[in-house]
Amino acid sequence: MPTPDRCRLADLRATEEKRFRDLHPRSAALAEDAAGPLLAGVPMPWMTRWPGAFALTVDSASGARLVDVDGIEYVDLCLGDTGAMTGHALPQVAEAISRRAATGLTTMLPSTDATWVAAELARRFGLPSWQFAMSATDANRFVLRFARHLTGRPRIAVMDWCYHGTVDETLAVLDGGRVVPRPGALGPQVDVAATTAVVPFNDAAALERRLAEGDVACLLMEPALTNIGIVLPEPGYLAEVREITRRHGVLLVNDETHTLCAGPGGATAAWGLQPDLLVVGKPIGGGVPLAAYGMSAEVAARLAGSMLGHEIDVAGVGGTLTANALALAAARATLSTSLRDDDFAVATPLAERFTDGVADVIEQHDLPWHVQRLGCRAEYWFCPPPRDGAAAAAAVDEEFEGFFHLYALNRGVLLTPFHNMALFSPAHTAGDVDRHTEVFGGAVEALMG
Ligand code: PMP
Repeated sequence: MPTPDRCRLADLRATEEKRFRDLHPRSAALAEDAAGPLLAGVPMPWMTRWPGAFALTVDSASGARLVDVDGIEYVDLCLGDTGAMTGHALPQVAEAISRRAATGLTTMLPSTDATWVAAELARRFGLPSWQFAMSATDANRFVLRFARHLTGRPRIAVMDWCYHGTVDETLAVLDGGRVVPRPGALGPQVDVAATTAVVPFNDAAALERRLAEGDVACLLMEPALTNIGIVLPEPGYLAEVREITRRHGVLLVNDETHTLCAGPGGATAAWGLQPDLLVVGKPIGGGVPLAAYGMSAEVAARLAGSMLGHEIDVAGVGGTLTANALALAAARATLSTSLRDDDFAVATPLAERFTDGVADVIEQHDLPWHVQRLGCRAEYWFCPPPRDGAAAAAAVDEEFEGFFHLYALNRGVLLTPFHNMALFSPAHTAGDVDRHTEVFGGAVEALMG
């Protein structure tokens, strides 16, 4: 089996770094200006993760394209890490936003769009009762609070190497059987050993053992891991998860924020799952911050009484601008025209074309790599498919990853800055996919010599 040469990789990386600087003088100047007033020179820490010496400044984004301030156009396979999974700048969302801007954005009272959006989410995901949040992180936090309130149990359970946003208790991993803060989590806010049970993905026996201890309120999980690369559930695993959680009185929460790529009702609808609660965020507001959480009739009935009373505003659920009229108008415009079966009928075959193209290159070079897909999201790895999060984390190769990202960026293709992930929208074309395949092939060729 041929292995790419690390010395060659370092040389190639240096060439790409120079090319990046040469191509982006205007972004470089803006990054220099930003270094003063912005901590780390960026408005949000994740933006330091992009490849290249500085983050690109974006001028505009439309459909599947993004243009930077140096006038370079990219095929956008990141789509705002799912926030723009519809494609950028939907005209109907722009129209709804501007209409709403002229008629009041936030009142802390219901707007006329809230019920429509909740009913549409109920239709898509099969859960009857909904609430809104500003972000998927917030929605997850609220759901965890509800679960503890309803069960009176102190711990929550998550999958090893999961990601559910900046929810303190979920930034936990297993270390030789102990629950410890996830590497990289700054200033752990809570003692995760006390708040959180962590189990490996695709291991029903481990879940059974842990939940049998009786202290877990809910299991929060993605039906397929998507945040340590894509790790798909093995056949029968999710049915076992449902049976085990039910038997131990543990509420099952599906976080569909990323797995929405499986279809209009996420993996829950695509695979006939039956969670007690469900969280979805990112693209549902067409780019305007909004998330939602839904629940079964039984959970809704158990919670209803707690939603009333003089102290509901300090219950730890909600926020002043949450469910504002702007976000809900944007969500109505998005969900009534986008992320529907027709849209996935375009986007998912493009992701298939992507995996076919990448698999061909891997095969041609006889590399021990693989490419994985979930609906309209695809990803390649520099190893065989991992079965759980820990194996996936151990397989991350930052040197390779950084090189492939930069090589693609320098040739007009933008990958998601975390992992080797590509997301497709109905605005992408077969030509966009082929552009990536060509660039990926070029990078492998350069690496193999
Ligand atoms: N859940 C999942 C599965 C996610 O992937 C993310 C973000 N990557 C979140 C929740 C949090 O979303 P946000 O950062 O928009 O709060």
